[in-house]
Amino acid sequence: MKKALITGITGQDGSYLAELLLAKGYQVHGMVRRSSEEKFERIAHLKDQVTLHQGDLLDQFSLAGLIEKVEPEEIYNLAAQSFVPTSWSQPVLTGEFTALGVTKMLEAVRQTNPKIKFYQASSSEMFGRVLEVPQKETTPFYPRSPYGVAKAYGHFITVNYRESFNLYAVSGILFNHESPRRGLEFITRKVSYNAALIKLGLKKKLGVGNLDAKRDWGFAGDYVDAMWRMLQQDTPDDYVVATHETHTVRELIQIAFARVGLDWEKYVEIDPAFVRPAEVELLIGDYDKAKKKLGWEPKVRFKELVEMMVDADVKRLEQRRPNDPI
Ligand code: GDP
Repeated sequence: MKKALITGITGQDGSYLAELLLAKGYQVHGMVRRSSEEKFERIAHLKDQVTLHQGDLLDQFSLAGLIEKVEPEEIYNLAAQSFVPTSWSQPVLTGEFTALGVTKMLEAVRQTNPKIKFYQASSSEMFGRVLEVPQKETTPFYPRSPYGVAKAYGHFITVNYRESFNLYAVSGILFNHESPRRGLEFITRKVSYNAALIKLGLKKKLGVGNLDAKRDWGFAGDYVDAMWRMLQQDTPDDYVVATHETHTVRELIQIAFARVGLDWEKYVEIDPAFVRPAEVELLIGDYDKAKKKLGWEPKVRFKELVEMMVDADVKRLEQRRPNDPI
């Protein structure tokens, strides 16, 4: 039985990846921080099937100790400070987790068992003010936030450890990927959740930032399969994972509100608090390499994704108990 260790197992991607690996017969281990913030609801349904261990990307020794204890064949490094606006208010912490945390994991792998296959969760935010359309593996980076800068470091240190020490280390450059398990602060889930609240009469207005930003949004459940495939190849390499479609925030809102039978323009207003100091205006990813070499393709497309998220939020809110917080 193969063993995998997932950092960030309590997050959106961690929960989908844990499900996928369990279905493939893996023994799944997850690293969680000893923190009052840690939320376990995304993996509550898996709690009897996964083994959780305390560890922290900020603590080098906890990582090596954990790897020695678990002895995984594969490590998926999904843990990070992953919300772009927070990276301006906590730039150093973002760098500690999202950038240096990767080096700490790679060092732990190198020192304990360099045969372990290592997946680094890289991000389309590295492309930032894009230098090429669509973006692919060879497109240069121009990050636009401390988060994007930190992810670019994580990408390059992964490539560097592969080339320096011959590790099987890969960087998956995943474009935005969403699901009903997405955090409420991200625009897709913010919109699906608020459309549901407004539909059910629990809220009147929704404040958002830039309506013109364009993203290549895919389904997280599809994307974790690409992560796994990247670790099953003969040689380690880096891949863009995307849908090769781009849509504006405005389109996202329009589809979400239409799903609950509402005209979005009556409810959505611009709130400057959500406008960013520097914006990534356009992302669209070319996943041709992943298609050819990994046999991977996205299954869920944009409209279906948004409608899936709205439906899930309507259902969740309808099922809540009267005194539950919204
Ligand atoms: P990101 O691509 O990782 O930053 O993912 P987000 O879901 O946080 O943001 C996607 C895009 O939506 C960005 O261009 C934001 O500027 C834009 N956006 C517009 N209004 C909002 C908002 O109210 N919240 C968030 N999170 N993003 C917004």
